[in-house]
Amino acid sequence: MLNNNKGNVIIIGAGIAGLSAAYYLVNEGWQVSILEKDDGANNCSFGNAGMIVPSHFTPLAAPGIVAQGVKWMLDSKSPFYVRPSLNLSLIDWGMKFLKHANEKHVERNAEAIRDLNLESSKLYDQLASKEGFDFELRQNGILMLYKSKEVEHEEIELAEKASSLGLDTQVLDRNAVQALEPNLRIDTLGGVLYQCDGIMYPPKLMQLLSAYLVSKGVAFHFHTEVQGFQQSGHRIASIQTNKGEFKADEIVVTGGASLGKLGSKLNLKLPLMPGKGYSFMYSPDSGTSMIHAALLLEARVAVTPMNNQIRFSGTMELGPANDKIYSNRVKGIVESIPKYYPDLKVEYPNDVWFGYRPCSPDGLPYLGRTKKYSNVSIAGGGGMMGLSLGPAFGKSIAHILSGQSPVSDISGFSPDRFQ
Ligand SMILES: Cc1cc2nc3c(=O)[nH]c(=O)nc-3n(C[C@H](O)[C@H](O)[C@H](O)COP(=O)(O)OP(=O)(O)OC[C@H]3O[C@@H](n4cnc5c(N)ncnc54)[C@H](O)[C@@H]3O)c2cc1C
Repeated sequence: MLNNNKGNVIIIGAGIAGLSAAYYLVNEGWQVSILEKDDGANNCSFGNAGMIVPSHFTPLAAPGIVAQGVKWMLDSKSPFYVRPSLNLSLIDWGMKFLKHANEKHVERNAEAIRDLNLESSKLYDQLASKEGFDFELRQNGILMLYKSKEVEHEEIELAEKASSLGLDTQVLDRNAVQALEPNLRIDTLGGVLYQCDGIMYPPKLMQLLSAYLVSKGVAFHFHTEVQGFQQSGHRIASIQTNKGEFKADEIVVTGGASLGKLGSKLNLKLPLMPGKGYSFMYSPDSGTSMIHAALLLEARVAVTPMNNQIRFSGTMELGPANDKIYSNRVKGIVESIPKYYPDLKVEYPNDVWFGYRPCSPDGLPYLGRTKKYSNVSIAGGGGMMGLSLGPAFGKSIAHILSGQSPVSDISGFSPDRFQ
C-alpha cells in the first residue's frame, strides 16, 4: 500500500459515495477529512435494498416509464409517484427527464452503466475478501419475478438485451424458480435470474467502512454542514460550514439527494430530484429461510434476505423532500408480498425507514472533475443504483485525483453535461 502523502482532500457527505472515495483515497496516500451534516448513521446508504445491480443497465429515464408513471399516479398504493407541484426545480427536472426517456438514450449509455456496475461488483468482492469485512456479501444473483404475461414478455426481452451485453441471465419457468427457493413457496408465472447481481447488509458495510477509515486516520467531522464555498481564481480556496472554515488541496462533493443544492453553491448545474423510498425489516418464521433476493416486478418491490431477516423496500416518490410517511404507499408494499410469497404473513410494520435516492433527470450519475474548478470533483446521482456503484465511484475519484485514467469510460457521466 502506498503512503506518500499526496495532499489533503475534503469529502462532503458520509454516504457510500463519500466513504468509498475516502477508502480508495486514503489507501493511495491522501490525507482525508469528511464533512457530514448529520451523524452519518442513517443516510440513504443504510436502509436501502442492499442490491448490487449490473442488471440495471437501463437508466430510470427509459421509454415506457412515462406512460406507466401516469397510470400509477392515479393509484395511491402504486410504486411510482410524482407529487404534482409548481416547484420550478421539479418542472425543470421533469422536462429534462422527458427529453431523455427514449430508446436512443438507453442504447447510448447501457454499456457504460454496465461497466461501472461490473467494476463495482468486483471491488465489493475485493473488499469482502479483506479480513474483518463481513458485510454479508452474497453474489448469488437476483430473481426478477413476474406474474403476468405482459411483464413476462417485457422481462424476457430485457433479459435478451442483457445477454447481448454479456450479462449472465437465465429465464426460468415457475418450477425452476421454485427449485431455487426450496424452503419458501413462490407464486409466480416465472422469473429471470441475473446471476451477475449480488446482495449485502448495507448498515454493516457502512459501519465497517467507517471503522476502517477511522483506523486509517480519516477525520470525520459530524454535524458539520457545508453552507458555501469561497473561490480564488480557478479553484475553491475554502469551504464554509456551521463549524467554521475548512481548506483542502482537493474537494470531493457527494451529498446524496442534496448534491443539487451543493452544486448550486458552486454555480454548477447538477439537476437532481429526491426519489423517496421506504423499507422495513421482517423476521420470518424459522424454516422459511430465503436464499435469493428478488424484485417483484409488477409491484416494484425489492426483497432482500439480510441479517437473518428479510428487508422489503419500494416506491419511488419523486418531488422535493418532505419527510412524511405516506402509509398507503407502505401498504402497497405490504399487500404485494403474499401475492408472490403466499406463506409470508407480513403485517404493516411498526418501524418504517425512508430515504431519498439522488435521481438525475437522465438517470446517469455525476462522476468526475468539473471543468469549472481545478480542485473539485463530484461523485453522486447514483439514483436507484447508488449503493451498487459506490466502490466504482470511490476508485474513479481516487484515479482522477492521482491523474490516472478512470476505472471505466465515465465520459457520459460528466458533472458538466447540464451546464
Ligand atoms: C428504498 C430504497 C432502496 C434502495 N435500494 C438500492 C439497492 O438495492 N441498490 C442500490 O445500488 N441502491 C439502492 N438505493 C439507492 C441508494 O441507497 C442511494 O443511491 C445511495 O445510498 C446514495 O449514496 P450517497 O452516498 O450518494 O448519498 P447518501 O447515502 O444520502 O449520503 C449523502 C450524505 O451527504 C450528507 N450531506 C448532504 N448535504 C450535506 C451538506 N451540505 N454538508 C455536509 N453533509 C451533507 C448527508 O447528510 C448524507 O449523510 C435505494 C434507495 C432507497 C431509498
